[in-house]
Amino acid sequence: MKRIALLGATGSIGRQALEIVDAHPELELVAAASGSQPIDGLAPLTQVGGDLTDLLERAEPDCVLNAVVGFAGVGATLWALERGIDLALANKESLVAAGDLALAAHARGGGRLLPVDSEHSALFQCLEGRSADHVESLVLTASGGPFRGRRRDELVDVTPAEALAHPTWNMGPKITIDSATLANKGLELVEAHFLFGVPYERIEIVIHPTSTVHSLVRLRDGAALAHLGYPDMRVPISFALTYPERAVTPVPPLDLAGGLTLEFGAPDLETFPLLRLAREAGERGGTYPCVFNAANEVAVAAFLDGRLPFLEIAAVVEEALAAADGAPARDLDELVEADRRARETADGRIPVA
Ligand code: NAD
Ligand code: MG
Repeated sequence: MKRIALLGATGSIGRQALEIVDAHPELELVAAASGSQPIDGLAPLTQVGGDLTDLLERAEPDCVLNAVVGFAGVGATLWALERGIDLALANKESLVAAGDLALAAHARGGGRLLPVDSEHSALFQCLEGRSADHVESLVLTASGGPFRGRRRDELVDVTPAEALAHPTWNMGPKITIDSATLANKGLELVEAHFLFGVPYERIEIVIHPTSTVHSLVRLRDGAALAHLGYPDMRVPISFALTYPERAVTPVPPLDLAGGLTLEFGAPDLETFPLLRLAREAGERGGTYPCVFNAANEVAVAAFLDGRLPFLEIAAVVEEALAAADGAPARDLDELVEADRRARETADGRIPVA
């Protein structure tokens, strides 16, 4: 039996994780948490809001699935890594914001860090058992979101409803907006850097509209290994929860004979500057990725509220990065302080409703 603690149980990832846990008798849900929705009876231990590490202390899980959205997931990520408890990580924001602290905690704890993000699950699988010096570079695929192909001047008036209509994935609102701005791919770039220890100049982003190829690894002999499948998060969730086993899922095999075509292209950094800003923040290191994430969270919430135009999301993030000193955080308190200051700067930039 594997004892699972599910954080973010009412969300898009959380609900799909419940389906996977229900289908596998060897997975036992011992604890569940949500941000605000009631979840009484979902697991022996439940918690709504509050400090997630209190719940984890009581639950004594073998595996924590962190499917909380945003910086709110950072404490749980560090808790699991520090203790060497398996961490199935959907909450990419925690690794982006706390990358250095997370790697140090992971090295001390010695547990498994299993990505749930589909691109990173794909990379993890393509890299497994390979020596680092055989790997030339990583290629993250991006659907391009609902505004792929548009120019900047065509994005001036886009509404939250238009931005929420993602072409290939059905996800929570925050990541869906991040996919429309390409901030999501920026977060994933930083996530990949910390997960796989590959420098930024050897991580490439390509647009691939159907999300059939989840990512690729280029090897030094010119070979490229890709991971393909229908875009369905139950596959990477199941992979992370049942690792090192590989359980059956209800997802159908790829229909190749029916005619499958794959299209790739370069991202438009002019129209989607958050991808460039994330790369710069990652390369500068320290708390710049934390600042990128914090300002983006504030700006996305304001956009969803109708208080900020779509194109201003990137402007808010750019200004928060310019205002920050980026000094590395030596502990969680310093990281929380960097996050708070970046939110304050971003807030100051957003018109009051
Ligand atoms: P969502 O908005 O659907 O769900 C978020 C969950 O987090 C909810 O259960 C909510 O109650 C909980 N939550 C929010 N704040 C909390 C807090 N302070 N304490 C405890 N719980 C809190 O989001 P989602 O789409 O499921 O995404 C979750 C995470 O997974 C995000 O980091 C996202 O980037 C990542 N992710 C999601 C997908 C996807 O397909 N949805 C794919 C890849 C990665
Ligand atoms: Mg992803």
